[in-house]
Amino acid sequence: MKNKAVVLLSGGLDSTTCLSVAHKEGLEVYTLSFDYGQRHGRELKCASKIASHYNVASHRVLRLEHFGGSALTDEHIDVPEYQDGSDIPVTYVPARNILFLSYALGYAETIGADAVFIGVSAVDYSGYPDCRPEFITAFQKVIDVGTKSGIEGNSIRVITPLISLSKAETIKLATANGAPLHLTTSCYNGREKACGRCDSCALRLKGFEQAGLTDPLEYD
Ligand code: ZN
Repeated sequence: MKNKAVVLLSGGLDSTTCLSVAHKEGLEVYTLSFDYGQRHGRELKCASKIASHYNVASHRVLRLEHFGGSALTDEHIDVPEYQDGSDIPVTYVPARNILFLSYALGYAETIGADAVFIGVSAVDYSGYPDCRPEFITAFQKVIDVGTKSGIEGNSIRVITPLISLSKAETIKLATANGAPLHLTTSCYNGREKACGRCDSCALRLKGFEQAGLTDPLEYD
């Protein structure tokens, strides 16, 4: 019998690369996406196509009540253009990865999965605190002490294949794994064509350039 894994799938480049890693490892994959009031439904459509591409065991979309508080969930806060800086940007969604990992954990424990995959990276990222290794280590501790499987000594592992990869390295890994990057979306604005100017587009484009590869997406 194959080992099961839950993969958090947003429809973006990083989570799709994560899914390609879990698939390559021969795991039985259960993808999980969230409708959390993000500005556009495009992400969820992409996630669904990517899940179909990989013929996953199950793809679920959970709807969460949203609180606003971020440029990604509140239409009154504009999505900023890319800025270099150390401040946490307004695209930060309060406690997003804590919520997502908690749901993924509950799902994993229910279906008997050993692992939860999440595509966070601490290299080329936007400064979100819940993408850092310190956070993942702390969340693993929560699983170890706060779940039945953890207490019984079979803790579900949080797997972060991209944590120490640059965006260029992630793109190379995705390409080597044959991940369907043409089905992904990264733009925070979520229009038909990517804007090329928001934080997420800027990181993606820089990554492709550094990897010496061509982004299959269309830009404005
Ligand atoms: Zn954009």
